[in-house]
Formats: sequence, structure tokens, C-alpha cells
Amino acid sequence: MNNTTLNRKAYKYALKLQMRKQYPATIIGAGKSYFKKVERSQPISPLILTNKLREKLISIGDLFSKQNGNFIGCCSEVNAANYVLLKLPYLNLNEIIFSPAIRPRTMQKIPTCKNCQITFS
Ligand SMILES: [Zn+2]
Repeated sequence: MNNTTLNRKAYKYALKLQMRKQYPATIIGAGKSYFKKVERSQPISPLILTNKLREKLISIGDLFSKQNGNFIGCCSEVNAANYVLLKLPYLNLNEIIFSPAIRPRTMQKIPTCKNCQITFS
């Protein structure tokens, strides 16, 4: 996949949110091959959370509990990656490609949190 395309898609989505004055903490693009998805940070619905991602997340701590300074299952990485896994279930977590995370309020790039480093590496 062309990572530039993913980064551009994420950047455009962040700009769109900013123009609408909608400010989730972060947004991020995730993808593999042809499939790309940009999502915002929010508690992921347990109804759509894939088993593969759930297993990995609960190995760090309970869903939605605070670990390493962040709430498990609330990051934009988790939300975007879950869509990719719904589409491409055989993908390993470390095969998912991410754009930089962006904070739409400031358009600042946000570093990957510890929980996501563990989950997707
Ligand atoms: Zn995270």
C-alpha cells in the first residue's frame, strides 16, 4: 500500500473535523493493501471488537481500564485497526500500517501510546 495515500487521507479527515469544530482527541488512518480506514479515538464498541484485537488488548489489562497512562480500547489506532481486521481477518496485528495520529484541534501529530506500541508491534 502507498503510505502517502493513507497519510493524506488521515490529514484530510482531520482538517474536515477541524472545519466542523469536531474535536476527538486523535484520528488515525490504518490499512493494508487496498483497504484503508480513518477513525477517531473513542471507546470501541465491544459488539464490533474482533477477537484477535480483544485478546491482545485484555492481555494488557481490562477493556477501558487505564494502563500506562491511557484507556485500553479507546485509541484511534484500535478503532481504525479493528475495521481493517473486520475486512481482512487473517492479518496479523503487526502487519497493519498506520498514518501518524493527528489531533484535529491543533493538527499536531501525536506519538503512539505504550498500549498501542504493545498491541501493534
Ligand atoms: Zn494508543
